Amino acid sequence: MIIMKFGGSSIADSERIKNVADIIASEKGREPIVVISGIHRITDELIAIGKAASSGREYRMLCSSVAKRHIDIIKGLGLRDSLLDNEMQLLMSLPKEISRNRILSKKKLDLLMSLGERMSVKILAEYMNRKGDKAFPCNSYEIGMLTDSNFGNADILPGTYERIRRSLKGIKSIPIITGFIGMDRKGSVTTLGRGGSDYTACVVGAAVNAREIQIWTNVDGIMTADPKLVPLAKSITELTFDEEAELEFLGAETLHPRGIHPAMKGNINVRIMNTLNRRYRGSVIRREIKASKRIASITSKKGMVLFKIPSGENMRNGVNLGLTMSELGKLGITFDLVSIARDGIVATTTKGDELASLSGNRRKVKKNLEVLGRVARVSLVGKNISEIKGIDSRIIKALGDIRIVMLEVGISRDSRSVVLNEKDADKATMLLHNEFFGRS
Ligand code: ASP
Ligand code: MG
Repeated sequence: MIIMKFGGSSIADSERIKNVADIIASEKGREPIVVISGIHRITDELIAIGKAASSGREYRMLCSSVAKRHIDIIKGLGLRDSLLDNEMQLLMSLPKEISRNRILSKKKLDLLMSLGERMSVKILAEYMNRKGDKAFPCNSYEIGMLTDSNFGNADILPGTYERIRRSLKGIKSIPIITGFIGMDRKGSVTTLGRGGSDYTACVVGAAVNAREIQIWTNVDGIMTADPKLVPLAKSITELTFDEEAELEFLGAETLHPRGIHPAMKGNINVRIMNTLNRRYRGSVIRREIKASKRIASITSKKGMVLFKIPSGENMRNGVNLGLTMSELGKLGITFDLVSIARDGIVATTTKGDELASLSGNRRKVKKNLEVLGRVARVSLVGKNISEIKGIDSRIIKALGDIRIVMLEVGISRDSRSVVLNEKDADKATMLLHNEFFGRS
């Protein structure tokens, strides 16, 4: 058995859906189980509907646009008009209710968002059946995807793997499963966090102990850098689970942050494929690679904020750091890199918006803070990177006269990070790529 997961852009229109159906059919011999997202950007559109409806703005046009995108696809594939009748009804009635109550609970929003995936599975399965490839659309919660009630970012509950394994045994056609969604014990629909279809794919993969989990995207797998920034970026053939997890942690956004864990636990290889380049064999994420140390990829995280907490007259920095961290932590503001100097603590956070919006009696905290500017973290990731001789001096040299705001050395085994002014991040990525991966 293999898992094949397709993201929204792979099923953006009827032509792409045909392509996906072909790809699935070509793997028929390996007992594929398919997990898909909603069609391209549909989740964003559904969120926009919810927000408009709850704030009393015009939402019907937005609903019509979502409906039309699906109807166009149904027409393009020559499917029956009534295919999505139930979902379409919800698409109209749910926003109406939200608008009437002027409130958008996380629970309602999850129900609204779930429509994207609930519609796409029906379309793909119906089209495949038409073509003669027997497929069966399933809402993940009907095959055992049980989650907690943390709406918007739910996680699976114990027993999910076993339930999914048993349910899938009973399905003889190719299952086409909704990514991203689940259900809590009370029967409310939940979502697993944005990009959650990867996670669904890995959970299903671990449940059936799949031979491989294929994540189909529109680029040649995981690359040495973002090809939009570095045109010479190359695909990486193999990565370890740890390298992938480190990349995600540092901002790569290839997979859902929790995505890889079930695969890692079950030791199932994850292959990142390209729907637009079927000859490409994929980047394989696996437990081990031959190299004992290496540099695999460069990633960056923009939009971080650098701030300073001046040390109080009588306070020692150590005490101050502990207090400040716990105080800010309570407000949901987490630190990334921290540096302590005589006159205070300087730290970076990805929660700049939260920091800016501290108000009321939280203002006191804010008053003690000095925002120094927007920064970015640029990171090199690779297995045992810290054991590579001279790596830090090469990083510094490669950056030339770019100002390094903070430098992280010797803490993480599999990464090296520098914090720079945000405007320098892209150039730094380019320079580091030249240094470590060459210019050709
Ligand atoms: N449709 C969901 C999202 O846009 C889940 C996914 O695409 O993985 O976040
Ligand atoms: Mg994704």
